[in-house]
Amino acid sequence: MGCFLFKQKVISRLIHYFAVKRMLDMIQIDKAALTQRFMRYVQIDTQSDPNENSHPSTQKQKNLSRLLAEELTTMGIQEVVTDEFGYVYACLPGNSSKKNIPAICFCSHVDTAPDCSGTNVKPILHQHYDGNDVVLPDDPSQVLSTKSFPYLQHHIGHDIITASGLTLLGSDDKAGVAIIMQTVQTLMDQPAVLHGDIRIVFTPDEEVGRGTAKIDMQKVGARFGYTLDGGEAGSLEDETFSADGATITIEGVITHPGYAKNKLVNAMKIAGEILATLPKNEWSPETTDGKEGFVHPVSLNGISEKASIGFIVRDFSTAELTNHHKRLRTLAESVLAKYPGAAMQYQAQEQYRNMYDVLQQYPHVAEYAAEAINRAGLTVKKESIRGGTDGSRLSYMGLPCPNIFTGMQNIHSKLEWVGVKDMLKAVETLVHLSAIWEERTV
Ligand SMILES: [Zn+2]
Repeated sequence: MGCFLFKQKVISRLIHYFAVKRMLDMIQIDKAALTQRFMRYVQIDTQSDPNENSHPSTQKQKNLSRLLAEELTTMGIQEVVTDEFGYVYACLPGNSSKKNIPAICFCSHVDTAPDCSGTNVKPILHQHYDGNDVVLPDDPSQVLSTKSFPYLQHHIGHDIITASGLTLLGSDDKAGVAIIMQTVQTLMDQPAVLHGDIRIVFTPDEEVGRGTAKIDMQKVGARFGYTLDGGEAGSLEDETFSADGATITIEGVITHPGYAKNKLVNAMKIAGEILATLPKNEWSPETTDGKEGFVHPVSLNGISEKASIGFIVRDFSTAELTNHHKRLRTLAESVLAKYPGAAMQYQAQEQYRNMYDVLQQYPHVAEYAAEAINRAGLTVKKESIRGGTDGSRLSYMGLPCPNIFTGMQNIHSKLEWVGVKDMLKAVETLVHLSAIWEERTV
């Protein structure tokens, strides 16, 4: 590289550095407002219900949706829509003179998990956490310690929020909701931060796998999105499982049991044998981690005449799902072969797909998020989700959508907690991210 070019590069780097530093100095996030906001949202019971087929699965989720819509309107956001399904859509209009900045969307879910009660959540703010065990007052058997949960050590001297011992906290995903709301407030208060259109979407029923069931992509109105539904500060997830379901239906041969010799074939016994043939040391959720896939029986129904086994099939590689199906089917057929007269059907159902397959076509979406995390002073931790998110479905609905951290910990349990400084860093990240999309548009 020539000397002149080198100097040019150094100068442009320096200009960039000072621009970023000025931006950092400029961003002031109201910590008290963010904390109060979060405490307010978690007290609203929004538990979803997997056994209800209505949309939303529980009407009470709308109580939070309504409040969020009201608060957005009070902030001065003019375009706020709620619907009968419990979604909230809003737009913070761009303030840049650049007209071709892609609209981006920040998305989180209002519901909490069915695994643990969400009724009467009493959030407790532990200011300047001292590092000692936190005994939750309403059930002293619930204890948070740095030994069991080392991530707490990062929060010694800072504020953390827990529940009181009888319920979950609901930081999954009200941390995400509070972070997005505070980001909107911050951007409105600080018009010097230039950005394009920022779309806001709050969804119901994510925890029961139906967060996007009734979503209106027209109303979302964005080109790219980010879910705020991740854990440790700095984490950025652009990869999820690809997921299928599989059902094996076995038909036996039924006769009067008193005269069944050499005739009767019991479908339930065949189902039991198929389950017993599944490998014990691999290929299951209880024996895999990292990037390994698995097959997992989740339901068993039957009478002696007919039985069915439901499976979930998971892998990060979508192509690999076919091999899992093949292996499962072959294994079942080898059992069936011992029972002439019995018949078997194998049915595969697509559930959701790895968002990475979409996101790798738009690498800048995750890159900008990584840069925003760095600008907020954190190290990026790229992670893969051994599950799905609203983002995996949204990515396939035309909204490439990685997942950003919120700080939530021990989710779906009474020991759930969140560090306020992580939520603050997430707001800072979103403010930077909004600015980066503006900067990168020519
Ligand atoms: Zn969540």
